[in-house]
Amino acid sequence: MITRSLIPLQRQAMPGRGDWQAQLAGAVRDPRELLRRLGLGEAWLPGAEAGHALFEVRVPAPYLARIRPGDPADPLLRQVLPLGEEALAAPGYVADPLAEADHTPARGLIHKYAGRVLLIASPTCAVNCRYCFRRHFPYAENAPSRTQWQETLAYLREDASIHEAILSGGDPLAASDRQLAWLVERLAAIPHLKRLRIHTRLPVVIPDRIDAALLDWLSTTRLQKVVVLHVNHAQEIDDAVIDACQRLHDAGVTLLNQSVLLRGVNDDVDTLAELSERLFEAGVLPYYLHVLDPVEGASHFDVADDEARELVAELRKLLPGFLMPTLVREVPGEASKTPL
Ligand code: SF4
Repeated sequence: MITRSLIPLQRQAMPGRGDWQAQLAGAVRDPRELLRRLGLGEAWLPGAEAGHALFEVRVPAPYLARIRPGDPADPLLRQVLPLGEEALAAPGYVADPLAEADHTPARGLIHKYAGRVLLIASPTCAVNCRYCFRRHFPYAENAPSRTQWQETLAYLREDASIHEAILSGGDPLAASDRQLAWLVERLAAIPHLKRLRIHTRLPVVIPDRIDAALLDWLSTTRLQKVVVLHVNHAQEIDDAVIDACQRLHDAGVTLLNQSVLLRGVNDDVDTLAELSERLFEAGVLPYYLHVLDPVEGASHFDVADDEARELVAELRKLLPGFLMPTLVREVPGEASKTPL
């Protein structure tokens, strides 16, 4: 029954194939519409609306098509469906759990770790993940204009200890190729910069984003390129995602993945093992498994540290070392991620 209803849903949901901007613009942004498309009843609506009021719902069609209709426990749905629990206060959960506001020397620039800086290249995402540690980030205050980018670039030019620029967001690949090509060209002109790292979920949620225009600026820069994807469950990786990863790989990109350990999504050992296996089938190496950052609205996703350590110990018995992500927490003020 579920399979039969999925086919017309996919056809109805998909805008013109290949047009990633139309897919981005056409993302579902209304909780009632999300429930309707997935065959979930009105009982979910009050919670979905309450969560949406705090952090808006956003789910693009290619991702929606991988969610099992009629299943409120679907691990992809859990990542995108707003719930009433998001309005509950929880001790220790705050708006800026990583204290990023303390490390912003210029607009759109976060400098926390030695040798690398993070640039907020886009204020929006293609999907809004309910557990996101930046769900309260003041993007409006950190979306630089071209003039402000010059300030950021000057900061990078003046600090020869910086070897890596990390494009983040939001999702940096939500920016246009014209903007990204402009920025990357200027980054590549800074002699001490060696690497360009891009943290993105777009190749996963809209695989058509990895198109000729993107590959043009990405494959021609002199900088070494690393793309860190964000996948939490093997069900997120379909054939289109594997093809997108292949295109990135062919452009000379090293592909890594970071996941967040999430209650009700990937908090069991078989799910984590399957995720690592599937990532490798897509040519992606598991990198980090983060415990949840304590951001307001996400406490229902929490997995306790002891349970996380036990899961990872069990995972080690199932996987070769190169498929093991490192279990980490980000602690504000520390010089690197903290292994658990
Ligand atoms: S920044 Fe990443 S985790 Fe946060 S909402 Fe955007 S895609 Fe999801």
